[in-house]
Amino acid sequence: MAGIDTRIGPRDMDSCIQYEMVGVETEERFTEFFLGREKAPGGYIWCFPKGKDIANVGIGVNGSFMRDGGEPLRLLDRFISENDRFRNGTITEINAGGVSVSLPPDRTVADSFLAVGDAARMVDPLTGGGVYNGCFAAIQAADAIHDALERRDTSERGLETYERGWRAGLESEMVRNYLAKEKLLEMSDEILDKVIEAISGYDLSEISTEELLKAVGARYPEVLTDIIG
Ligand SMILES: Cc1cc2nc3c(=O)[nH]c(=O)nc-3n(C[C@H](O)[C@H](O)[C@H](O)COP(=O)(O)OP(=O)(O)OC[C@H]3O[C@@H](n4cnc5c(N)ncnc54)[C@H](O)[C@@H]3O)c2cc1C
Repeated sequence: MAGIDTRIGPRDMDSCIQYEMVGVETEERFTEFFLGREKAPGGYIWCFPKGKDIANVGIGVNGSFMRDGGEPLRLLDRFISENDRFRNGTITEINAGGVSVSLPPDRTVADSFLAVGDAARMVDPLTGGGVYNGCFAAIQAADAIHDALERRDTSERGLETYERGWRAGLESEMVRNYLAKEKLLEMSDEILDKVIEAISGYDLSEISTEELLKAVGARYPEVLTDIIG
């Protein structure tokens, strides 16, 4: 209705389902990611601890790998039933939904209209995390709306500070992470294993994309070429 096209294809959308579980064994200080084509095609299974024996345990499957309806649910249930740490836990909450893993749309403002968060496809395309980006953009939106109302100009041009503000903070990382996601979708489990093995044996001075790539390059130069082309 606002003239902003937010439609995307299956490759740019993950289908996700998550249980909050109690009575599970967590790594309290760590978030865990379980990767692999068999486990979570084009995505990952996660365990995000929320306390001693409470965690969000969920899965995201990329739309381009989806064969039939309900697949993420079946894969998550299989993972839980095969894992001693989760099998005896109790599900206390269920959340499910689509998570965009796309580039942001070309425009997010129109006359008297602005789109924020998931409505503007602002999720980080590599991790599927959308809370931080949504909150960051919401602050920009509040400032822009306040200014526009003071100037009595809520036209598309009057809201332009929002468009510029959120893009300055988020867009370059989103584009970089989108390209990384595209690479990951093509990566075999064997290459993924090599990447993880290289990282585990490397003394990382910090967790950053650059440091991770250095670690991979030092151990497997041919894999690095595969990743960055
Ligand atoms: C299973 C799952 C797990 C996730 N885990 C994480 C995570 O661990 N970390 C993370 O960063 N992100 C996570 N995400 C993504 C994250 O939830 C979203 O990116 C984030 O909630 C987006 O916030 P939002 O305010 O833009 O949209 P939403 O949270 O979708 O809020 C939009 C609100 O608008 C309401 N609404 C819709 N239409 C109307 C209407 N016409 N009138 C009035 N109200 C309306 C909706 O009911 C909703 O409450 C996850 C997503 C899923 C599906």
